Amino acid sequence: MADIGNLTAIELAQKVVSRQLRPTEIIEAYFQKVVQIEPQIDAYLLLLKERALSQAKMIEEKQAKGMPLGRLAGVPVAVKDNIMIEGYPATCASKILEDCRAVYTATVVKRLEEEGAIIIGKTNLDEFAMGSSTENSGFKTTKNPWDISRVPGGSSGGSAAAVAAGLAAAALGSDTGGSIRQPAAFCGVVGFKPTYGFVSRFGLVAFASSLDQIGPMTRTVSDAALLFEVISGHDPMDSTSLSQERMTNEGKTLRIGLPKEYFSAEGADPEVLAAVESAVKIFQKEGARIVDVSLPHTRFALPAYYIIAPSEASANLARFDGIRYGKRRQRGTEAEGQSEESGLITLYKASRTNGFGAEVQRRILIGTFALSHGYYEAYYGRAQEARRKIADDFDEAFRQADFIATPTTPTPAFKIGEKSGDPVAMYLSDIFTIPVNLAGIPAVSIPCGFSKTNLPVGLQILGPRTGDKSVLELAEHFEKMTANEFVKRPAVRVRQGGIGW
Ligand code: GLN
Repeated sequence: MADIGNLTAIELAQKVVSRQLRPTEIIEAYFQKVVQIEPQIDAYLLLLKERALSQAKMIEEKQAKGMPLGRLAGVPVAVKDNIMIEGYPATCASKILEDCRAVYTATVVKRLEEEGAIIIGKTNLDEFAMGSSTENSGFKTTKNPWDISRVPGGSSGGSAAAVAAGLAAAALGSDTGGSIRQPAAFCGVVGFKPTYGFVSRFGLVAFASSLDQIGPMTRTVSDAALLFEVISGHDPMDSTSLSQERMTNEGKTLRIGLPKEYFSAEGADPEVLAAVESAVKIFQKEGARIVDVSLPHTRFALPAYYIIAPSEASANLARFDGIRYGKRRQRGTEAEGQSEESGLITLYKASRTNGFGAEVQRRILIGTFALSHGYYEAYYGRAQEARRKIADDFDEAFRQADFIATPTTPTPAFKIGEKSGDPVAMYLSDIFTIPVNLAGIPAVSIPCGFSKTNLPVGLQILGPRTGDKSVLELAEHFEKMTANEFVKRPAVRVRQGGIGW
């Protein structure tokens, strides 16, 4: 039992293939852990025990017939609840989608399952992936397994917490402005956001389509690299999908750039900076050259993002109106003095204001305003110009450095409720991750240390567009150099009896 929970995804699959472990045994063990721990963490919105067990049995039957098994045979994977599995809810943690069922399966899920992975549940998130703490979920707040009075980060907080607490061997998240990397950093796991276009968005409920990317969240970099290999590659169902052939794998000369704007950022916790600096020293000791780089337009990243993302969101979320999609509320009636037309408007209003939470409504309002006639150039147009300059900054920096290293977040995980009343304070927690999405480049967050209060700290490694493999290789190298010193599990206590892993 204890062994199963401590095995990485790669090790689990190897043990299945070599018949040392049976997939049903793995799934049973994971659900036993879920029963014990999940009530304290609230990582999941939906558990798929029956489905998981029947898939586990199918893999066993395949094996009995001598058929080849996939690279993720029997590996329990959790999927963020904005990624669709046909026939099951994909609530996006929104009340408006509470009663809906997905009518098709996301490409990423299909690809995982083709390799034998078993989806064990759908994880909590900030509603429609808008947020940095899961406090914007329409259903519940996930707790950070390292300290349950703190947030797990967001929006993929459920996926991060599930992996950290041992409630899944690996997970998928989505990252529009940091939603994979920030929760990975807060929960002490690995989170990878690929180059825009490398992973199909087909079956991901869109937030901001030009920024959204699905990626893996795992305990080790090798697991992240394997999941990425499985889910990436061209998909004709996503028109922005790139083919794998375009991936480059250069980067023999190791120059690591430190952007001065990030290390002098206001509000950056000295403990976080110290942990990242000591991680950089480890690379230096190994012969890497550390170079100072500048990303001068960094200060425009947050303002540009908070125009572009809400603008795209306002268009993407227009379909959730109670008619085309989403829970339908009462239309205004003749008895109430409403005409055919005003009755319909009442229905739209009631469906949307009851269905969407405050943050989603705020974003729709901002986006609709920014795109409105007469304001478009002043807001959206300017934001796009800023986006271009931020991308150019990275191009320039990658002429001087092969990789860029930064903290993933300015601080370790904050307390539940600490920032929920102040949207701007919340937005600032993504200050180091958002520029990466604006530029479309790959970045990974890996655990690199702990604060004095035993909270994980994340190191972010960025690479040039299509340099995904090199980024993961460098991150893997860090894990080896530090002998997995930071690949740790929190000691989540089981409340009533029972034993942990
Ligand atoms: N926290 C950021 C936001 O609220 C990023 C979210 C994300 O990456 N999905 O928009």
